[in-house]
Amino acid sequence: MNAKLQIRGIAASDKNEKAGLYQFIITLGEGAKGRVFFKKDPEWKMTGVTRLLNVPCPICHKDYYCNCLEKNAEVIERQIIDQDLISSVLD
Ligand SMILES: [Zn+2]
Repeated sequence: MNAKLQIRGIAASDKNEKAGLYQFIITLGEGAKGRVFFKKDPEWKMTGVTRLLNVPCPICHKDYYCNCLEKNAEVIERQIIDQDLISSVLD
């Protein structure tokens, strides 16, 4: 896996427990952050990811919108599921 796509941190953002919708902020390589959207139905499933524009994209280094995280959504989702990152930030 590209080290720039390695998740170094995760924090809870918005949630709508009734609808089973959750958002988390992840930190990737080079300090890049992304917002990930999850649905619990009943298993956790990632429904989307967008990069926050705090720093240039760690993959293509564009300062503006790009689709790098979207293209790598599967890699990001797998880390969150396999490392059980959601339960580490939800109580
Ligand atoms: Zn990019």
